[in-house]
Amino acid sequence: MKCEFCGNDYDKAFEVVMAGKRHTFDSFECAIHSLAPTCGNCGVRIVGHGLEHDGTYYCCQHCAQAAGVHGLNDRLH
Ligand SMILES: [Zn+2]
Ligand SMILES: [Zn+2]
Repeated sequence: MKCEFCGNDYDKAFEVVMAGKRHTFDSFECAIHSLAPTCGNCGVRIVGHGLEHDGTYYCCQHCAQAAGVHGLNDRLH
């Protein structure tokens, strides 16, 4: 099993299925770098619950508001 992000060949690599597509990684770090969305305001990788608005992700309420998005309080994805 080879990590699709860094190419490392590792026997404990794992698979992640996202939107019906299968991905193989050797570490969570590689999976996050490859799959995690980035905040539309500050660009940080969103690893936990983020906020989504019109296909754009934000790491927190503050960033969503800074980008002019309001009323996302209840919409954790
Ligand atoms: Zn890797
Ligand atoms: Zn942010």
